[in-house]
Amino acid sequence: MVNRRTLQTSVSELPGVGIKLEATLNRLGIHRIQDLLFHLPFRYLDRTRLTPIGSLQIGREALIEGIVELSQIRYGRRRQLLCQISDGTGALAIRLFHFSRYQHQSLTRGAFIRCWGSPRRQTGKMEMIHPEYKLIPEERRGATEETLTPVYPTTEGLTQTRLRRLTGMALDILEQDREGPRELLPGELLKTHALPDLLSALKYVHRPPPEAELEQLSEGRHVAQQRLAFEELLAHQLSLKAIRKRFHQVYAPPIRADERSLARFIQDLPFRLTGAQTRVLQDIRHDLCKPTPMLRLIQGDVGSGKTVLAAIAALIICDGGYQAAYMAPTELLAEQHYAIISGLFAGTGFPIIRLTGSMTRKTRKEVLEQIQDPSPAVIIGTHALFQEEVSFGRLGLVIIDEQHRFGVSQRLALLEKGMAANNYPHQMVMTATPIPRTLMMTAFADLDLSVIDELPPGRIPVRTVALSNERRNEIIERIATVCKQGHQAYWVCTLVEESENLQVQAAEETMEFLTDMLPLHRIGLVHGRMKAKDKEKVMRECKTGQLDVLVATTVIEVGVDVPAASLMIIENAERLGLSQLHQLRGRVGRGNQSSHCVLLYQPPLTDTARARLEIMRATNDGFEIANRDMELRGPGEILGLRQTGLPSMRVADLMRDYRLIPSVQAAADYLIESDPDCTRALIHRWLPQQQNYGNV
Ligand code: ADP
Ligand code: MG
Repeated sequence: MVNRRTLQTSVSELPGVGIKLEATLNRLGIHRIQDLLFHLPFRYLDRTRLTPIGSLQIGREALIEGIVELSQIRYGRRRQLLCQISDGTGALAIRLFHFSRYQHQSLTRGAFIRCWGSPRRQTGKMEMIHPEYKLIPEERRGATEETLTPVYPTTEGLTQTRLRRLTGMALDILEQDREGPRELLPGELLKTHALPDLLSALKYVHRPPPEAELEQLSEGRHVAQQRLAFEELLAHQLSLKAIRKRFHQVYAPPIRADERSLARFIQDLPFRLTGAQTRVLQDIRHDLCKPTPMLRLIQGDVGSGKTVLAAIAALIICDGGYQAAYMAPTELLAEQHYAIISGLFAGTGFPIIRLTGSMTRKTRKEVLEQIQDPSPAVIIGTHALFQEEVSFGRLGLVIIDEQHRFGVSQRLALLEKGMAANNYPHQMVMTATPIPRTLMMTAFADLDLSVIDELPPGRIPVRTVALSNERRNEIIERIATVCKQGHQAYWVCTLVEESENLQVQAAEETMEFLTDMLPLHRIGLVHGRMKAKDKEKVMRECKTGQLDVLVATTVIEVGVDVPAASLMIIENAERLGLSQLHQLRGRVGRGNQSSHCVLLYQPPLTDTARARLEIMRATNDGFEIANRDMELRGPGEILGLRQTGLPSMRVADLMRDYRLIPSVQAAADYLIESDPDCTRALIHRWLPQQQNYGNV
C-alpha cells in the first residue's frame, strides 16, 4: 500500500488516533504530524542497560529483570499486590496498589519481568512502588532498548508510551516522505554553521543512542537541538521581517505636529523632559510624518517616563484631526492613564474617553457612539477597545502599554482592526522589559526600537536588602517607621505556581498577620480575584493616602504609580525572575523620598539564588540586571521567563540560545534575498498562524 501520509497530514490520520486523542494532542499544540516531531523530550531515561538487583541504589531509577518468586495479595490498610523478584544477585519487592485481575493472574510465580522504577528501602528491603513493567518471553531476556528513552511534556490522558509510539510513527513518515521538503535549510547554510541535517537531528533528539551525552541533551545544548533551535529562530526572524516589509508597503496618514500646540503642551508639563525623552520624541515625530505606519517599540526602564511620551504622541495625532487609542493591560492601569492624560490634556479641549469591560450597558453604548464619531479624541481602555463592536471614527494611532501582555498576533490584529479604507493607524508599543538590545531586536524584529536610557533627575535609588523569612518579624518595625513619616508600604505575596487562588490565600494570611502586628495602621488588600471596581477602590485609597500598607498579589506588578510609597516587601523573592523583581521594586522610589525594598527569601539559598539576590541589591539598572541574570542563569533557573515578554517558542529559548542570534540574522537576510520559497516554507512550518500577516 502506498503511504500517503506526509508531515503536513493531520495527526488524526495516524493509526490509533481517534477524536478524543486528537483533541488531547491539539491541547499540546500538536495538529499536524510534523508537530509531533517538534514536540521534543525534556529528559531521557537510560533503559539500554540492565542493573543487577544486587547493585541497585536507593532513589536512582533503573532497569532490572528478574523472575517472580512469590506473588500475593495483601489486605492491610490498603489492598495491594506484592511480588518478590529475584535475578540471582539480589531480591526486590514490587508493590502495586492498583491492579487488574489480569495483572494478578499474569504476575505469578515463575513469570519473567522487566521493570523500570526508582528503588526505595522499606523495613530493610528494597522495593519499587508501581514501576513500569513488562512480561518478557524467554527469548527476549536481556534484550534492552537500543536507544535512550525520551520523556515528553504531556497532559492528562496521554501516556508516555502512547507519545513514544506516535513520535516513532512520525519519524518513520519523515524518513519516507519524499514529497514534503523535509530539509528546508540550504546545504551551504548547514555547512557554514556546522549543523546536522533535519532528519539526523530529529532522530537524535527523539531516540538518542546509548552513548549520548545526557547532560548536554537535558540542557538543550546538543548540536542536534541547536540545529532545531536555529531553524525555529530563523523562521521567527523571517516572519517578523516579512511582516515589517508588508507594513512598509501600506498607507498610514502622515501627521505633522502642530508646533505651537506642541510647544505649549510641553511648556505646561509639571517637569522638563529628559534628554532621552526628547530624543525618543524626535523618533516618534519622524515616524508620524511618513505615509507608512509607525511601528515603534519604546523601551524604557520602570519610571523612565513613558506615559508622558504617549500623551504627547496622542496630542500630535489629535491636532492632526485623528483619534488616538491607548490600551493598557489592566483596568487599574487604564484608570490611572485616564486620570493622568485627563490632567495633561486639560488645556487642549480634546475629549478623553474611557472604555473598559466593567461599564454598564448604557454607558457602554454611549461611549461606543462617541468613539464612532470621527472627531479627534483620546480613547483609553483595556482589551475592550478592540472588541468586535467597537468601531473607530478616525483612528490615527494605537498606543499599547506594557506590551509583554500581548503577543505578535494580537498586535497585528489590532492594526487590521484599526484599518479603515486602506488607512492603517500608526502603532507605538511601550515596554519596560529590560532585555538587551540584541535580544530585543530579535524578539521584535518587526518593530523599530527607541530606548529611553535615562531616568528623570532627582530619583533616589531604592536601597535593597535580602532577608530570611525567619526574620520577617523585624520588618514590622520598619513598616511602622515608614508610616510614621507619612509614607506607605507594599507587601507583595508571590508564588511561583501562579495559581491565583494560592496567591490570594497567601495574601489573606499576610493581611491577617499584619493586622495583628500593626493594629493601629490602615491595611488594604488587593488581589486578582477581586472585582475590578473593588480593586480600583482599594488602589484609589492607596493613592490618596487613606491606607498605610497595601497587601497585594502580583496584580500590582505593572505600572501602578503611587509616589508616596517608600517600602516594598516581596515574598519568595528567590523564586522570581529578576525582571519581575525589578518591575515590582519599581513601584517604590517614584517620589522624592528615599525608599527601601526587602526581598524575603526562604532559606537555604542555592549559590545561584544568592548571586541573583546580590545583583538586585547591587544595582537598580534594569538593563544591567537583565544582562547579569542572563550570564548567571542556568537552564534550570528559567522561572520568571514568562514575564520577560519574549515570544514563546517550541524548541528555541531566546535566553538559552542567544548565542545563535548573529548567525540566525545573517541567515535570515541571506534567505530573504536568495530563496523566497525556502522563506515561505520555513514560516509555514513553524508559524502557520502568522503567514497571513507575512504575505511574502
Ligand atoms: P513608566 O516609564 O514606568 O511608565 P511613568 O510614565 O509612570 O513611568 O513615569 C514615572 C513618574 O515619573 C511619573 O510620576 C511621571 O510624572 C514622572 N516623570 C516622567 N517624566 C519626567 C521628567 N522628565 N521629569 C520628572 N518626572 C518625570
Ligand atoms: Mg508605565
